[in-house]
Amino acid sequence: MIPKRAEVGSLLYEWNGTKEIQVEVGIRRGLPGFQILGCATLSTKESRDRIRLALEASGYLFPLETIIVNLKPAHIPKRMVCLDLAIAVGILMATDQIKIPEGKVHFLGGLGLDGTVLGGQELLPYLWQNRLSAEVSLCLPGNLKKDKIPQGRYYFLDHLDGLRNLPGTIPDNREVLTPSMDSLTWEHVFLDPYQMKTFQGLLYSLLGKHHSLLLGSPGSGKTMMHRMLESLLPPKETRDPNDQGVWTWGGDFEVPSNKRPFRAPHHSATEVGLVGGGLPFQPGEISKSYGGILYLDEALEFRDRILESLRMPMEDSYLEIVRMNEKTKLKTDFTLMLSANPCPCGNYHSKQICHCSLQKIRLYLQKISGAFLDRITIFQTLFETTNERCIKLEESKMKNILLERFAFRNTRTVPEDEEKKIQKILDTESQTKQLSLRKKKQIISLTRTIADWDLSSRTKEAHIWEAVQYSIGYQWIYSLG
Ligand SMILES: [Zn+2]
Repeated sequence: MIPKRAEVGSLLYEWNGTKEIQVEVGIRRGLPGFQILGCATLSTKESRDRIRLALEASGYLFPLETIIVNLKPAHIPKRMVCLDLAIAVGILMATDQIKIPEGKVHFLGGLGLDGTVLGGQELLPYLWQNRLSAEVSLCLPGNLKKDKIPQGRYYFLDHLDGLRNLPGTIPDNREVLTPSMDSLTWEHVFLDPYQMKTFQGLLYSLLGKHHSLLLGSPGSGKTMMHRMLESLLPPKETRDPNDQGVWTWGGDFEVPSNKRPFRAPHHSATEVGLVGGGLPFQPGEISKSYGGILYLDEALEFRDRILESLRMPMEDSYLEIVRMNEKTKLKTDFTLMLSANPCPCGNYHSKQICHCSLQKIRLYLQKISGAFLDRITIFQTLFETTNERCIKLEESKMKNILLERFAFRNTRTVPEDEEKKIQKILDTESQTKQLSLRKKKQIISLTRTIADWDLSSRTKEAHIWEAVQYSIGYQWIYSLG
């Protein structure tokens, strides 16, 4: 007796990509048994009883023979899987109970005990990350029908029952939806002169990808000004093929686009939430902000370890993840922006009365370690604000100003000896000569950004001193005694 055999395609998700896998089902005479081989995890093995009940509930025969399911390729651990449907389809095909449409179809979904095909929006990021070849169709749980899914051919299945009609069904052809980038989010705002100066610093941070920290009184507009940057981020030149799309704060899924991310995790975020981790690996906020801004509002409320874990990616643009016994390096690319109150009560240096002792303020600010401060290029304070909000900023005009600066920055050429010249000035002037090498490098880089803002391919002395003011803005912390 020749064993019956069938092979069904499916998808496997891993944190660094989605892979196509084959579910091979073999059935031979023998004692009733059901085995899943090929580096299956416990949760995959647990699916056996579920699949049996689901098949029986849908009016199919569950073969009382020896069933062997082999997941290929066998060497990849099947950590994050949704293979119930593919295995069930394999059993039904091997026992000649159903036929599937001609051509390659991959099945993806879980099963309920009553035969319902399960799986929802949690599958979306993986669908977007996977680039299926044109000849593959995908059979998905029916409740994804209304969602934004990538271009391709799809069958939707609500219940195992539906498999009987599948060969006669015409697949859904989906076109890719490109979200529009034109919507305005703040249209116009009015700032006072102090806020405007601060905002200028944030614009430099955006243009030159300089990490920044803003200390300021509550209500001075710190959060608002950072949020304004979100819509000023330039679009990405090309869509990143590894982009999974993101979940917005409202819980909606945003399809991958050429929009740069602006992530603003809450200070209750865990280290895993920020850096990433877990099994299976879930990317953290650092990865989700790739190519954009990571904004930590109330930065001093974040756990110390979290701030410290940002140090390496801030400077070296990579993150080291240690899981079980493997070490993985992830490339990172984000501009870190922090804002915080200057003291526990928030009123230090403002018009309100601050009751915090100098010692208390020092302890509070010490949460940002010297090593961390050293990696921040733009340091600003915003204590004073006035009610004369007289500077009008229009979003569409600001967008154009930024785009012009980004375009200039990408195409300009810089005189060869420029860095050396600035370095020499920094090494000799009393205000800067004692600074660390790292700080001096930051000043040189910020000087270049400020010159770019001026659309000037040569840096001027004024640019250097403006950069110095931003870079040494933290020094007053040390004067607290
Ligand atoms: Zn205070």
